[in-house]
Amino acid sequence: MLWEDMAEMICMECQYVGKPKRQKRGSTKAEIIAWLLFPFGLPYVFWRILHKFPVCRHCGSTMLTSTESAVGKRLLEKQAEELEQMVRHAPPQKEIKPAEIQLPEVKKPSTQNEW
Ligand SMILES: [Zn+2]
Repeated sequence: MLWEDMAEMICMECQYVGKPKRQKRGSTKAEIIAWLLFPFGLPYVFWRILHKFPVCRHCGSTMLTSTESAVGKRLLEKQAEELEQMVRHAPPQKEIKPAEIQLPEVKKPSTQNEW
């Protein structure tokens, strides 16, 4: 799958949604892991050499998935649900007036005149 330039992506690490940055090829953890998994990582390395890959603008993660993909859609749904829950559980905005504190009048015992 080729990453399209204008496609919005969703980050699986921080759930940032938006257009990713394009990371040029260079040394990254992912490639090191790919080489460690040699020869299993080889297709990844080739894929990477052939294409610049998108990284999350927010956290730099490469764990991005298209918002069009099944995983991306599920993440978006989850986000929407969480947002909805937050709105529902948020207390209604009321103007908080400072409580009027009325101190009970302290009645001093009336001084009795001594006759
Ligand atoms: Zn991220």
